Amino acid sequence: MSDQIAVSVCIPVFNEVDNLEELVHRVETVMARLRIPWELILVDDGSRDGSYERMRQLGASRPFLRGIRFDRNHGQTAAMAAGIRASRGEAVVTMDADLQNDPEDIPRLLEGLAGHAAVVGWRARRQDTFVRRVSSRFANWFRNLVSDENIRDTGCSLKAFRGPVVRALPFYEGMHRFLPTLVKMGGGTVAEIEVAHHPRTKGTSKYNVWNRVFRSFLDLLAIRWMKWRQLRYRIHDEF
Ligand code: UDP
Ligand code: MG
Repeated sequence: MSDQIAVSVCIPVFNEVDNLEELVHRVETVMARLRIPWELILVDDGSRDGSYERMRQLGASRPFLRGIRFDRNHGQTAAMAAGIRASRGEAVVTMDADLQNDPEDIPRLLEGLAGHAAVVGWRARRQDTFVRRVSSRFANWFRNLVSDENIRDTGCSLKAFRGPVVRALPFYEGMHRFLPTLVKMGGGTVAEIEVAHHPRTKGTSKYNVWNRVFRSFLDLLAIRWMKWRQLRYRIHDEF
């Protein structure tokens, strides 16, 4: 069983060509220290800046690196879902490609998985513009209110999951923001740990306040509905 993958790191990539080399190098350095079998899955979500070609170059000398390329842009949830479904790890780590997350935080997330189905990061010192920080704070508050949740920062992509748990989640567009809630609905516990956050130095953000707010509001109603209509039966006896 020694070639069984312990950890899959899954990262969606949309026009991130200038981030890829440092990203792969830093994730590799951190994971190599753990001395466990692992894989890195990069999912190119229809980039037009040569990201996939760069992924291939980086993969040429790295057997742990797997690449998936979409026919066109399908959005962050689709890219994350494709990576997660392709993953083989006992644990799955997700993060962004833009290095706003710190690969160096991965080992701490993995440690937390011993007692939980998922461990999610929260960005205590958020390095984004004032407008983004305020809108994110509002979004988290509103999301928690409507979905009866208490997740501090579900917009933080840096998360770790038990593999079988995350591979069984239902994926619909926008659901990447609700993965902790979906895990809890499946009966798992979720821990939150503080993680570092950095300003984006290369490439550009794919969202603005408005496209994020509008889309995630509808998604939130779907989550609300799912929680409301969840089957809660308990079997009393059987033979
Ligand atoms: N992303 C993607 N498809 C999209 C939009 C974004 O794969 O349609 C990826 C992007 O390359 C990055 C992550 O999702 O790795 C988060 O995107 P971004 O950094 O733009 O979001 P922000 O940090 O600004 O919320
Ligand atoms: Mg980002």
